[in-house]
Amino acid sequence: MKLHHVGVVVKSLDEAVARHEKMGLRLAHREVVASQKVEVAFMGDGPYIELLEPTSPDSPVAKFLDKRGPGQHHLAFAVPSIEAELRRQAAAGAKLIDKTARPGAWGHKVAFLHPESQGGVLIELLQESQ
Ligand code: ZN
Repeated sequence: MKLHHVGVVVKSLDEAVARHEKMGLRLAHREVVASQKVEVAFMGDGPYIELLEPTSPDSPVAKFLDKRGPGQHHLAFAVPSIEAELRRQAAAGAKLIDKTARPGAWGHKVAFLHPESQGGVLIELLQESQ
């Protein structure tokens, strides 16, 4: 598995995209992920920074923002087969948030591991669309 992106929660996506562009990272992809009630922007050329802004107050990301403020939210690792990786992680004792993959941003399949079993870090597994 290799690092695909670092997820960072922001209050304003427009402001954060402009700030990262000024820093020297290009906007690679931007999309509203309705199922997660977020708008995301991937910055750089990979590994990316994924900026996430909640689109609704009941988005899980809105709850994170209320509780902890803006900042690092998760690490995402690309794997060749997400279903195989979920089985492997479960066997290794990881607590799964998603028992099966679901559609994520950019056409990828994603699944999350609970921070409780990952030293406090939310882990996203991601199978890239070809
Ligand atoms: Zn992510």
